[in-house]
Amino acid sequence: MSETQQETLSFQTEVKQLLHLMIHSLYSNKEIFLRELISNASDACDKLRFQALKDDSLLGDDGDLSIRVEYDKEAGTVTLTDNGVGMTRDDVIANLGTIAKSGTADFLKNLTGDERKDSQMIGQFGVGFYSSFIVANAVDVYSRRAGTPEDAGVHWHSEGEGDFSLSEVTLAQRGTRIVLHLKPEETEFADGWRLRNLIRKYSDHIAIPVQMLKESYDDPEAEKAEDSAVEWETVNSAKALWTRPRSEISDDEYKELYRHISHDFGDPLTWSHNKVEGKLDYTSLLYIPKKAPYDIWNRERIRGLKLYVQRVFIMDDVEQFLPMYLRFAKGIVDSNDLPLNVSREILQSDDAIDTMRTALTKRVLDMLSKLAKKDPEGYQAFWDEFGQVLKEGPAEDASNNDKIAKLLRFATSHTGDAAQTQSLDDYVGRMKEGQDKIYYVAADSHQTAKNSPHLEVFRKKGIEVLLMSDRIDEWLMGYLREFDGKSLVDVARGGLDLSGVETEAEKEAQQKANDDHKPLLERLKTLLESDVEDVRMTHRLVESPACIVVGDNDMGAQMRRIMEAAGQAVPETKPIFELNPEHPLVQRLEQEVSEDRFADLANILLEQARLAEGSHPKDAAGFVGRLNKLLLDLSR
Ligand code: ADP
Ligand code: MG
Repeated sequence: MSETQQETLSFQTEVKQLLHLMIHSLYSNKEIFLRELISNASDACDKLRFQALKDDSLLGDDGDLSIRVEYDKEAGTVTLTDNGVGMTRDDVIANLGTIAKSGTADFLKNLTGDERKDSQMIGQFGVGFYSSFIVANAVDVYSRRAGTPEDAGVHWHSEGEGDFSLSEVTLAQRGTRIVLHLKPEETEFADGWRLRNLIRKYSDHIAIPVQMLKESYDDPEAEKAEDSAVEWETVNSAKALWTRPRSEISDDEYKELYRHISHDFGDPLTWSHNKVEGKLDYTSLLYIPKKAPYDIWNRERIRGLKLYVQRVFIMDDVEQFLPMYLRFAKGIVDSNDLPLNVSREILQSDDAIDTMRTALTKRVLDMLSKLAKKDPEGYQAFWDEFGQVLKEGPAEDASNNDKIAKLLRFATSHTGDAAQTQSLDDYVGRMKEGQDKIYYVAADSHQTAKNSPHLEVFRKKGIEVLLMSDRIDEWLMGYLREFDGKSLVDVARGGLDLSGVETEAEKEAQQKANDDHKPLLERLKTLLESDVEDVRMTHRLVESPACIVVGDNDMGAQMRRIMEAAGQAVPETKPIFELNPEHPLVQRLEQEVSEDRFADLANILLEQARLAEGSHPKDAAGFVGRLNKLLLDLSR
């Protein structure tokens, strides 16, 4: 191993930050460095195996891929060697000098500076190669890319203190060797028994054999004898976990595989492992994470499942397997039908992929219904993290509307609580005798929804109303018209149809109110012509004097504000102004003879109605002026 031309380079600022954070926050979980390094070695072997499908000369005469772990107690080192794809000099600089994954860089930007909080955050992250420095005070990496000549090797060395050095080196074997020089207080890791345990604990599911030299614990001196034959033994089960029968896989094994494929530190919420045989032949293992990645709202973010073909890793992030609204799901699909040389382009236009997508979508939805039934608390945790993502479902995937609708959760007037915990089934179970519709109100905030004047008649009659305040809700309801044969009705829209829960007498009373107050209504219509479409008496109000109603086919107030905030043109539509004939202010209005005062009072009622639905007054200063005028009159 001859070395030349040593050169010193500086770590990217973010790497220094990450190293610092890691060393100071992960000390209670040091052992994870081993699984991170084995995970990388396994990825490197997967990559080489995949590239060798096109060019088998890459494997040369070294086709048995493996990961080897050695240690030296005296020297205080642990060494990992893989004969995977290896790295060129440029690869090494990019991968072990910067933070290549934009995710990690973004993560660092989001750090608060509060060490306790930040260390909890890093726990949700895959920490990767740099975790070596949790236990080592110096690390050597020797690597040579498959297919390059022996003298194209590179030696990376760092003490984790802000810079690293690089030199050229001749390496007989392709792949990567990592030597950890353990900190004096971490030499416990240079121990065969400890390492074997860690490999079994964290890396059993890795499909590549992880090997160690055979040693005898009875007579530790014996195996050190110079002439004893070197014999490697495989420590992990080295079989792709998903190829084993479900009954033989423990929860811990499932969880470890999840951590390997998701780069998530925590446990998954649930998973589903299935073998499909018949027209198509594939195995899927799907997970629902517990925590949303911080970039779940970035629609460009990398997502999707890992694809294997006949146990050979083909590619990451295959987004064709699941629709966008299920982008939180993680997992693998191992197909026996797809060709080994399948490309992303082929995936986009393959009928088999469509069939698999339909089945996998159903699988995820079923997994969620099962969770909701068996573990309501777990489901609530899912909903709190991913509910808003799932709400994109009805618009994207009409064919699964019924299934998705059952998974939705809402706040309702039943509890008045802001937590979204009630299902549509819960609602239907509590429907009043004769009630044939599901009612909802959408506003910018839970408070506004809860206190909406539109709810007054429902409160009086004891009818439950769903309280929606997520930005996406009104849009969602545009795609979710029905549930369980009952239409979903926006209570702030159109002529309120309380059919089934309204008596004939009530209907007649409303008609009569409109007839009786005709002169007032006409007067108002003329006055407010430019602001409202119509003015009428309503029975939906109990305490409030007036409210605003949106036309059946017009855009609701919440949606309108969202569109406006996004700078989109919103069609100009006029709402309907409704009055409560029983309210003293309305009665007072009716008796007003002064045209000026009539106009002031009418305008105030209209602006108040706008305020109550969470909108701004149309003429805020005018509104304040009018109100003050009245207040002064009062105090006179
Ligand atoms: P991640 O594995 O999430 O990409 P890591 O910090 O663990 O992040 O590794 C960074 C990168 O370094 C890897 O993506 C890979 O390109 C490269 N790398 C690390 N270890 C090896 C290895 N043993 N062989 C080849 N490349 C490696
Ligand atoms: Mg890694």
